[in-house]
Amino acid sequence: MVDIIIKSKKTGLSILTAILIITAFFIVRGINQRLKPVQITRFSMGTFFTLTIFGANADAAADEACQEILRVEKLTNSRNGPVAEINNNPGQWVKVPEELYFLLQQSMVIHEKTNGAFQPAIGALVNLWGFGYEGEGRLPKPEQIAEQVSLFDKPVISLDKKSHGIRISPGCQLDLGGVAKGYAVDRVYRILRRRGIRHALINGGDSSIRALGTRPWGKPWRIALAHPRKKEWVGVLQLPADMAVGTSADTQRYFMHQGKRYSHLINPRTGYPARDVILVSVLTKTAVEADMLSTAVFVSEGGQRIPLMEGLGILGYYVTPDGQPHFSKDFRRLIQE
Ligand code: AMP
Ligand code: MG
Repeated sequence: MVDIIIKSKKTGLSILTAILIITAFFIVRGINQRLKPVQITRFSMGTFFTLTIFGANADAAADEACQEILRVEKLTNSRNGPVAEINNNPGQWVKVPEELYFLLQQSMVIHEKTNGAFQPAIGALVNLWGFGYEGEGRLPKPEQIAEQVSLFDKPVISLDKKSHGIRISPGCQLDLGGVAKGYAVDRVYRILRRRGIRHALINGGDSSIRALGTRPWGKPWRIALAHPRKKEWVGVLQLPADMAVGTSADTQRYFMHQGKRYSHLINPRTGYPARDVILVSVLTKTAVEADMLSTAVFVSEGGQRIPLMEGLGILGYYVTPDGQPHFSKDFRRLIQE
């Protein structure tokens, strides 16, 4: 009898030990998954997308996300596909995929809200400045610029909701270079969410970045804000959960002429690249908005940048050519120097 009791005590102990070992295994695996992200980089849209993903399904989620980035590139690029079809048929209605229709509709909302500063039909002007696909930039003749700018006196993009039709005015070209990266980042955000990911950072070439949740230990993602000219940081932005930061800068594509720098960010009202600013970053709820609005704020010259940001209810900052950062109200609060 005594013997039997001792035996069952031993069995009880070994079951307990096994449970403890299995529990420890899962705790360690869980901690490891929380602390070690999957990090993946893919080249698309002329830049590197880097995804940092924590969680059990991170590998599969990263694969799907990378495919999605390439799909968005196909949908939005001007060289082939639906955007090229619109550009090759000026003055005519072109039926486009529903998704592209909605992206254009959203772009036109921002066009209105920024008083035309964001102009998705800027393609011909961008080409004139030599910043088309793989172009290196050149100074156009003033009369060529004036001719392009005069086209924007009237609305140049028409949308037909029923047929998902788009029509562009002759002389203009659609160019989604100021919105495609942000859109791709938002699409990745949705895919990761759907796959149950709760902590990730989606970085589209440093110019479109969105946080998915916080870092695994609850602190916000930190984004180093690089100074556009000096080898130093403006500060570190604590990116609030699920928000996005978009950056436009004259360091991305530009050429020099007689000591002056001309970038790919063109003010549709003047036809010239904005030259009184070197970098703009804005903080918004989605990456697609951040992408469009950083471009719009960049090209809004004079003293219009802070009033435009505040009128839109967004936070951000810009750096003038003298290297000075100018912050909208409350943006500085999110920055550690
Ligand atoms: P981003 O780097 O996001 O500011 O976008 C720059 C790209 O947007 C340029 O390479 C052009 O393709 C396009 N772009 C330039 N100026 C404008 C503008 N005023 N509105 C919309 N897109 C623009
Ligand atoms: Mg942009």
